[in-house]
Amino acid sequence: MKATFPHLAHLDIALGVLYPTLGVEIVPPPPISKKTIEMGVKLAPQNACFPLKVTLGNFLEGIERGADTVFMAGGVGPCRFGYYGQVQKIIIEDMGHDVRFILLDHPRYGWRQFLDAIKVMMGGRFSLVRAKRAVTLAWQILRFTEELENYRRSLRCQVEDKATLDTMVEETLDRLRSVEEIRTLANIRDEARANLRDFPRRQREGMIRVGIVGEVYIAQEKRINFNIDRLLGDLGVYVHNSVSTVEYILHTLPFFRSRDKHEAWQLARPYLNRFVGGEGIDSVGSTVRYAQWGFDGVVHLYPFTCMPEVVAKGIMNQVGKDYDLPILHLAIDEHAGEAGLVTRVEAFVDVLERRGKMGRKTLEAIGR
Ligand code: SF4
Repeated sequence: MKATFPHLAHLDIALGVLYPTLGVEIVPPPPISKKTIEMGVKLAPQNACFPLKVTLGNFLEGIERGADTVFMAGGVGPCRFGYYGQVQKIIIEDMGHDVRFILLDHPRYGWRQFLDAIKVMMGGRFSLVRAKRAVTLAWQILRFTEELENYRRSLRCQVEDKATLDTMVEETLDRLRSVEEIRTLANIRDEARANLRDFPRRQREGMIRVGIVGEVYIAQEKRINFNIDRLLGDLGVYVHNSVSTVEYILHTLPFFRSRDKHEAWQLARPYLNRFVGGEGIDSVGSTVRYAQWGFDGVVHLYPFTCMPEVVAKGIMNQVGKDYDLPILHLAIDEHAGEAGLVTRVEAFVDVLERRGKMGRKTLEAIGR
């Protein structure tokens, strides 16, 4: 078996450590490029969600490299994620590829199916003892990749030497690819944390603070969202991203619960108290949280035609009015262009700066 999988943030680093340890040969797709998007867009139904198209491109590029198996997560309704794997499987089979598709559905759709999929993904035999070490290491690596990105995101607006910051983060991410033991990971982590904590920075009073909310794939995949974290950081904005691959995975596993998501759902409750699919509730709850934290604005990232985020968008506008919080909604698909996005983000930051100079209203002033 030679398995390929979709890209999502730094998942490839964690899976690249997990699978060889389990004795499964993997064929990671190349990094997402124009070609990936074109391949997916050409074959997927026109009105399919953009992430379906890009991940289809990942699979096709993985197959070009010799993969004979595809690992994909199954989805939970009510939105279209539940159909992703099935649609992609049919498209790939119609192209004449003899590829095995392993879909990991939530166990609520059947424990047997879930365990069978896990068994294949674990290399044929489901041994808890064998899997425990590998999964623990891969999980900690994934968590640390997010920690690194959080450092980079929050530091970018405060440092002069952005190139060195990028090099430091990229080199650390590269070192993680060859980690085989927890002890090695701990050493890399300690060293990187110390370097990043001591990274020379300017004292910046009154920084503009912006939170990112939205659909997990668009909000996390910087090769798709035009690296908006970096763009905002270069404009001098402190950025916090409420969307996390780690929390997303945690939330989809049985017996686990994401504390972050739970909190966001509680905050969303006065506005939206039923599941609308995807990250719809999270987007609303995280917007409330940023307002309560005193952030200056929120950027909402989602795929064009994403039903849960379109529902969230209307509700978030009400949250924005209630808390006097500007929100920039950015729908991204294959037609989105970097120049247009940059112009809109620059204009948004301009507005936030002017509001900052005029003195943003406090929560007390707006009766909160
Ligand atoms: S969350 Fe949005 S983009 Fe993702 S599958 Fe559902 S509708 Fe599509």
